[in-house]
Amino acid sequence: MIEIGDLRFSYDEGDFSLEIPQLKVADGETVAIVGPSGSGKTTLLNLIAGTATPQSGRVTTNGYKISELHDAARRDFRIANIGLVFQEFELLEYLNVLDNILLPYRINRTLQLGTSVRARAEAIAERVGIGDKLSRYANQLSQGEKQRVAVIRALVVQPPLLLADEPTGNLDPLNKDRVLDILFQYANDNAATLITVTHDHNILHRFQRVIDFKDFYIHATQQRLESIAEPM
Ligand code: ADP
Ligand code: MG
Repeated sequence: MIEIGDLRFSYDEGDFSLEIPQLKVADGETVAIVGPSGSGKTTLLNLIAGTATPQSGRVTTNGYKISELHDAARRDFRIANIGLVFQEFELLEYLNVLDNILLPYRINRTLQLGTSVRARAEAIAERVGIGDKLSRYANQLSQGEKQRVAVIRALVVQPPLLLADEPTGNLDPLNKDRVLDILFQYANDNAATLITVTHDHNILHRFQRVIDFKDFYIHATQQRLESIAEPM
């Protein structure tokens, strides 16, 4: 369960600010977030994942007040609980596909990398059609293959929460369906929560709920007006 309340966030630089009076996402829910470019969708994912900290308000992710954890605890929590699929894949060029997939195990000391994990990584790679490319380097992969590696890396620790930032953004229709099938099948099999930022309206029907970023601004403005209108 994710719960956000009375959140206000702005970056140190620039004049962008985000206000979210309330947002709740239930365990196991599949949610698409839509909104224009620059409206703060990636920022919201970072706030949920704890890579950005709000100036005020609450962010609770899987029962943890993520904004109150210390840096190291927050990082360990994130790697063990949240599968992140980045907009730009964020694969490491000097690692091969298998090592990119297993990266969470190398950077989080609370995760144990054993033979069962390797077998799981190989099995998922096989299922999504890149089982024969595990020893290739990132620059030897197509966009669609890179995106699948990024998705497998997000799934390999079996997190209860998946955050995907425009995971189908650079893909042709076939690879788009493949990536979405992987995400939805994982969420379904593991009762995991899936939050996906997208601007692809053709895929919205697959989600249980669609959150339009415009709504936050409307609510935020309404709340401000109400507080102004309150009698002294
Ligand atoms: P979206 O994902 O909806 O396109 P973002 O969350 O990436 O939007 O960005 C929202 C706004 O915040 C944009 O105006 C962007 O320029 C600004 N922004 C993003 N990251 C930073 C940063 N690190 N410092 C300052 N401004 C930023
Ligand atoms: Mg973005």
